[in-house]
Formats: sequence, structure tokens, C-alpha cells
Amino acid sequence: MSDIKVVEAPPGVEGSGFFATSLDKAIGMARSHSLWPLPFATSCCGIEFMATMGSHYDLARFGAERLSFSPRQADLLMVMGTIAKKMAPVLRQVYLQMAEPRWVMAVGACASSGGIFDTYSVLQGIDEIIPVDVYVPGCPPRPEGIIDGFMNIQKLVQTESGRRREAPEYKELLAKYGIQ
Ligand code: SF4
Repeated sequence: MSDIKVVEAPPGVEGSGFFATSLDKAIGMARSHSLWPLPFATSCCGIEFMATMGSHYDLARFGAERLSFSPRQADLLMVMGTIAKKMAPVLRQVYLQMAEPRWVMAVGACASSGGIFDTYSVLQGIDEIIPVDVYVPGCPPRPEGIIDGFMNIQKLVQTESGRRREAPEYKELLAKYGIQ
């Protein structure tokens, strides 16, 4: 007869283990304050993004002053503007070239749903071709709206596991888009 007692974990340290949970939190905090956005701006919403990066609104305060025009060195894809169907394969290619972990923001009505361009030649939302994490409404959204969307990405980064790409639900989501 064994006299080993099973000690229940105190609240907050159960699940994947105290060390792994704390490490996830630390990684999430560091990642969320050092995001490198890739601005994929095709039209008017891109102008609002310029204002968002300017000294008045200053997105750099959130640790995102280093814009990346190379997908390999970016972890946040910000799509701003009307995406014509001819441009769609280019956008998808840029997304595929980004390394994990990567996040996507659809900024403005056009990127989110096609906006006012309900026509044969325009993609009716970028989520037809790539997964989107945060949608920012508006035509165009004000810089405050873009910052709000960015802060929602930060919250997401802080709360998700550092091993997001290994999660079955994430793999399932990518599979829906035909991404291995
Ligand atoms: Fe231009 Fe409005 Fe479309 Fe933004 S949502 S790209 S402002 S038409």
C-alpha cells in the first residue's frame, strides 16, 4: 500500500504547468511589445496608416516603430485598402512568406469585406484567401481605430500560447485555407 499523497495544484498553476504558463506569459508580453508590421497598403486606408505612424498618433509607443517591407522579417500583416482579385495571389504569397508566429489585421471596410466595391473585380474581404485575426471597421478608420485594432492584436498575442502553431485548432484553420 503506497502512502504517496496526490497534492492538488493551487489555483492558477494547474494545466500546462506553472513554468510553461509563466514562460508563455513572458513570451507573449515580449512579443506583443515588439511587433514588426508589414503595411500592405493599396489605397486610401494607407493614408490613415501614415497618420497613425506620424508623431501625433505615434504607433511607435506600442513598440511597433520598426516597419518591415520584407515578409521574412515581419510578424503582423496589416492589409489596408481595396484588394483587386488580380492582387489577391500577391497578398497570399506575402502571407505565406511570413514565418510563424504571424498575425493579420484587416484595416478598413475594403480589406474586411470589399467595402463599397461590390464588384466582380474586387475581393470581398481578405478572409476569402487568408485567415484574419482582427478587423478594423471604417471607411477609412481613423488612426484611433487602427491603434485600437493594434491593441486587440497585442491582447491576442499576450493571451495565446507561445506554441500557437502547434495547436490543432490553428492547423485546422490553416488547412481550411489550403495552407500546410
Ligand atoms: Fe478607401 Fe474606404 Fe476602402 Fe479604406 S475602406 S480603402 S478609405 S474606400
